[in-house]
Amino acid sequence: MRVINSVKELKRHLSEERKKDKSIGLVPTMGALHEGHISLVEQCIADNEICVVSIFVNPTQFNDKNDFASYPRTPEKDYAMLEEAGCDYIFAPSEEEMYPEPDMRVFDFGSITDVMEGAYRPGHFNGVAQVVSKLFYAVEPCKAYFGEKDFQQIAVIRVMVKQLDIPVEIIACPILRESTGLAMSSRNTRLTPEQHQKASLIAHTLKESATFVPGKKVHEVIDYVINALNNEPVFRVEYFDIVNRDTLQSIHNWTETTDPIGCIAVYCGEVRLIDNITYKN
Ligand code: AMP
Repeated sequence: MRVINSVKELKRHLSEERKKDKSIGLVPTMGALHEGHISLVEQCIADNEICVVSIFVNPTQFNDKNDFASYPRTPEKDYAMLEEAGCDYIFAPSEEEMYPEPDMRVFDFGSITDVMEGAYRPGHFNGVAQVVSKLFYAVEPCKAYFGEKDFQQIAVIRVMVKQLDIPVEIIACPILRESTGLAMSSRNTRLTPEQHQKASLIAHTLKESATFVPGKKVHEVIDYVINALNNEPVFRVEYFDIVNRDTLQSIHNWTETTDPIGCIAVYCGEVRLIDNITYKN
């Protein structure tokens, strides 16, 4: 496994691999890796001859400076986990390397970015598109791997590659959870032990809400989830909505679409967590 910090050096190595006809897969991450990330890496290794994992805490996608500053950074542990998993190249650029010039690009992805993460984190998906497009130009992967925990992000990336004509296949990977059901996240390390224990209620409540379908109306299920969590003083639900999984727009009746998805962002203390559940109707 090689750790590479410069785009030029990365391109040099990968062009050698391409000359040998090797297929290249990319897993973009912000580091502070956990088993959820490793499940993407394992899928990438299974599908491609060369696996590249990028580690870069991208400043342009953080709308909250404190969140950026307090985002966990554990490079040594990350490298050890990736070596163990069988990754071939880690790309870990500095901010200057990734943004030698300020990235002034403004994307328009239409209504999919007007809702949920797009509405509550202004500029977030623009920053994601800036960094992921740069990673795609640097690595030129055949396939790139993203977790369904960030469901809206996958929808945005799919639109982005079409708009920019980038020839990469986007592979969505399932959410990995802790034994309590809590979706694995780098941010979980910022929870106190008590908060960590309580946080399992998020997935638990989502799962429970699925048992009400189709008996209860969509808005009743939404109210149930929001109230159940807000009743616990440790939580503050930022949003919970049940949406069409393709358009990400709210649904009002279960019959409007197949497999609608419920997406939540909730503060557990100071830590913002996201999760989602697919409803079968
Ligand atoms: P991040 O480092 O948080 O930007 O995440 C990098 C990639 O890992 C994203 O595509 C995430 O959706 C994915 N990911 C994060 N947590 C999980 C998880 N619990 N299960 C599956 N994928 C995940």
